[in-house]
Amino acid sequence: MCVFCKIIKGVIPSQKMYEDNDIIIIKDINPEAKLHYLMIPKQHFANICEMTEEQSIIMARGFRTLAKLTSSLGLDGGFRLISNKGKDACQSVEHLHVHILGGEQLPERIN
Ligand code: AMP
Ligand code: ZN
Repeated sequence: MCVFCKIIKGVIPSQKMYEDNDIIIIKDINPEAKLHYLMIPKQHFANICEMTEEQSIIMARGFRTLAKLTSSLGLDGGFRLISNKGKDACQSVEHLHVHILGGEQLPERIN
């Protein structure tokens, strides 16, 4: 079982900010910005390329949920979404997730 599946099942702890039937939003264990969350679908997909059109609605709903949670997550100043897929993007956890970065002025470039 992958690390995010273990978090979703409660086998390993996380700082959970939000949960519904489809997704969880947790704090990243190694934050790269003042606020760094991960939006993770509960169903295991390695990356977006493994999702069918019907399954992709999970992420679309997740983005709407994030929009509603913006203030409570401390992201009124704005935020950046990143989802790494595969080797060239340095994906390290093979369970689809979207990084949510904010809480401070982010650099213009990503590297
Ligand atoms: P990526 O490199 O895009 O696959 O991102 C994986 C992210 O998962 C990294 O930012 C890690 O810090 C984060 N991460 C790994 N293990 C955990 C964990 N147990 N709890 C929270 N975040 C984690
Ligand atoms: Zn998984």
